[in-house]
Amino acid sequence: MNKIGYKIPLDTTVEVGQALDSQSKKCNWLYNQLLQRANELKGQFIASDGQDNEAARTLYTKTGLRNLVPALKAEHPFLKTVYSSPLKNAALRLTAAITEYQKSRRGERANGHQVDWPHFRKWKKKWFSLLYDEPWKGYWLNGRELTLSFGQDENRKQYQTVVTLTESLPFDKSQVKQLRITKEVGTFYAVFTVEVASKEKKEIALPPGLKAAYLDPNHKNLAYLVDTLGNGIEIDNMPTLKLIDRRIDELKSKRDSCLRQSRLVEFGRDDGSVHRHWEPSRRWKWYNNALHRLYRLRREQTKTFLFTLANELYRQYDVIGIGNYTPHGGGINSGMRRSMNNQSLIGRFKQTLAWVAEREGKTFIELSEYKTTKVCHDCGYDVPDGIPPEVREWDCPVCGTHHIRDENSARNGLGRLGSPKI
Ligand SMILES: [Zn+2]
Repeated sequence: MNKIGYKIPLDTTVEVGQALDSQSKKCNWLYNQLLQRANELKGQFIASDGQDNEAARTLYTKTGLRNLVPALKAEHPFLKTVYSSPLKNAALRLTAAITEYQKSRRGERANGHQVDWPHFRKWKKKWFSLLYDEPWKGYWLNGRELTLSFGQDENRKQYQTVVTLTESLPFDKSQVKQLRITKEVGTFYAVFTVEVASKEKKEIALPPGLKAAYLDPNHKNLAYLVDTLGNGIEIDNMPTLKLIDRRIDELKSKRDSCLRQSRLVEFGRDDGSVHRHWEPSRRWKWYNNALHRLYRLRREQTKTFLFTLANELYRQYDVIGIGNYTPHGGGINSGMRRSMNNQSLIGRFKQTLAWVAEREGKTFIELSEYKTTKVCHDCGYDVPDGIPPEVREWDCPVCGTHHIRDENSARNGLGRLGSPKI
């Protein structure tokens, strides 16, 4: 069994939108309130030299902060207008953030990423999602009408709201494990966490029997390939390319340092005018010739390499798609230069693929890479802040799938092959 998040945009009226905003704001308020309490407890804990067990229990155990919620509800009755599950999860979320901080301090996080002690959350900056963490508890579905329970008003009257899913949920109700309501750029979404048999993943809408591959260019290697047979292969650059590029750099700097030794040549022409030019030194000419021989070698070798690769790929596949690569990451350094070189190589590779496809009567498609990196291929969750370039592997926060960055984006690209939108 696999857990996937299935995200459906919601159709909401202005009033319902305001009601959801209000629920989210209250959870956000509770989070900040608990954080303030946590900050005090942390101070106490430090002041006690680690002896304050009560503070430690509240801060560092799973249910410590959650157990503070009932008292806060009594003190601030407006919290009662929020359903228990989203409220409880505001506390659990803070506990999770503190746990991550602790792990990071102990050096237990993968990649050694540093995590700060939690910050106060600004609701206007980030909408606090409402998590109903149990199957059909506090929410139910009738066709595309989704009813959400809120809390109780002062007369202990339970109140609720109804939103409409813009598409129906393509799963059986028994598969739904939890529901999260989110808001992004003004639109509300229902993200259902659904348990599915491993096979029930997104289908690729290609004609049956056709073998397709998608190439996701990257600046480390040439590209990452995934195909409809389920293969994932890293395609390395031409092995000698790095050596040639390094040699080119050397020759160029040697040649350019000879410039100072060039001399001014002057001679009179028959018509009385004077010709002047700077005559480079012999050394300069020698380096310059060597450099141009190397450029020619690079062109020829890469051409052979790219044609061999394209021929090989079209021997195996009927359709090849490639992302419209744009260079990302890196400042102005040799790495960037390399990635620029690589970019021009990928440009030539595309031309080569197109040419071979035409000759072989096969298909070449250039596809938009928009969002391929930050959308989880398994559940479609769109990571709001994207995946930073240095993060090579990540876990989807919705379905928990562990992703290799390039593989995930290549699989998304492959999914787009069926309906290319440039
Ligand atoms: Zn996911």
